Order: sequence, then C-alpha cells, then structure tokens
Amino acid sequence: MVQKKGPKGSTKKKRPLQQKSGENGNITYYQENVQSHKHCFNCGISVQPDKDTCSERCQTEWDKMLKKKKFWNYLPLLGAGFLALLWLIMSIA
Ligand SMILES: [Zn+2]
Repeated sequence: MVQKKGPKGSTKKKRPLQQKSGENGNITYYQENVQSHKHCFNCGISVQPDKDTCSERCQTEWDKMLKKKKFWNYLPLLGAGFLALLWLIMSIA
C-alpha cells in the first residue's frame, strides 16, 4: 500500500494527479485500494481507514468547521428563543 502525505502547510483543495515515470518511460498512476482507503475530511487526501483526517492540524480544522456549522444550524433556534423571551417580557410588563 502506498502511503501518501499531503504537502505541509498547504491548504489547497485541489491537487494534481500523482504521476510517476517508470523505468521504461511509461507513466504509471498510483492505484488506490478501494477497499481500504478513506479521504481526509478536511483536505481530501488519502488516509488510513481508521482515521478521518490526515493530520492533527486537519482534525482541528475539521472540528472548527463542524462547530461553525452547528452554530449556524442553531442560530435560527436561538433567534426564535430570544424573540419568545422578549415577547414574554413585553407581555409581563
Ligand atoms: Zn488533511
């Protein structure tokens, strides 16, 4: 199995197709094992099947992204709750 490591410090989403020139000059493309390979949630490079991201840096970035996503999901709910609270205060006064 070929372990590929992503470029350090790069946040590029797209990466060029990996090529390798063989001894006879032919270009061989890396064959990825379909059964046991996964892609990093954050940057999309191949990672071990028991991992979700390629590095700790990607893991933290992914966690941050999820938290942000969650926040935006709950924002309308928070807004509604705030309005309900406001309405309650107004009706009491
Ligand atoms: Zn990654």
